[in-house]
Amino acid sequence: MLVLGGTRDAITIAQRLNDGSNCDSILSLAGRTSHPDTGIGEVRIGGFGGAAGLARFLTEHGIVAVVDATHPFAARMSFHAAVACARANVPLVALVREPWVASAGDRWVPASNVNACAALAAALGRRIFLTVGRQELEPFAALDEHWFLIRSIEPPDPPLPRAYELILARGPFAFSEELALMRAHAIDCVVTKNSGGAATQAKLLAARSLGIPVVMVARPARPADVSSVQHIEAAVDWVRERLAPVRA
Ligand code: NAP
Repeated sequence: MLVLGGTRDAITIAQRLNDGSNCDSILSLAGRTSHPDTGIGEVRIGGFGGAAGLARFLTEHGIVAVVDATHPFAARMSFHAAVACARANVPLVALVREPWVASAGDRWVPASNVNACAALAAALGRRIFLTVGRQELEPFAALDEHWFLIRSIEPPDPPLPRAYELILARGPFAFSEELALMRAHAIDCVVTKNSGGAATQAKLLAARSLGIPVVMVARPARPADVSSVQHIEAAVDWVRERLAPVRA
């Protein structure tokens, strides 16, 4: 089994498969963080060399099925997985987390991508909480009139805004902590990708409670012809169904 990771869900799936399914799973990470959570089991780190490299990997390692549990914004990897699995004739399922959906009291402003959201955020606030990841801050670097609270797991790549404070942290984050953080820094706008999931949702609840606008970056497109599930349990069941004929 190959589990394409970069999410907590991927670690859980790989762990569940190794624990309970009498199956060897390999967790694959892009290598975006220097001390990644990996759980137990075999881990490989770094790109495959495009779809062709991944197809080769599948064949050479006798992979019988692939779970794409990548981050919802890691779309290139998902497209490569679709192409490679079709080429190597290996079944593929994607774990697609449900996106966050606005409810009463939310002041969300949609943005089609991170570049588009810098102008929106600049118009909506002066003290902006940026949670888009460390590699996507360039569009904000030109905003000299604004102050930023930047939160990322690893130190961000330059260029960075003129005025900012950096918090290095990995979720999950609690509602009370997010509320206190935003109050302490007088945040008046939040910028986030629509990653979905519970671990980083509390900032949205805190923004709602404070009446703060949220610039919400929409997810990139996913490959169309790939089976998908929404929950870890369903992904594990899907794998077990694929393993049964292999063992028989
Ligand atoms: P990407 O654009 O989908 O992938 C770029 C390349 O990274 C892929 O072509 C592949 O290289 C390699 N790669 C990605 N995921 C991999 C995996 N699980 N195992 C092995 N190689 C992998 O993804 P990205 O550049 O990492 O990130 C795009 C967006 O997703 C960013 O906005 C980022 O903040 C967000 N994100 C990513 C991760 C993550 O772990 N990747 C986690 C959280 C958030 P080859 O073509 O050489 O195979």
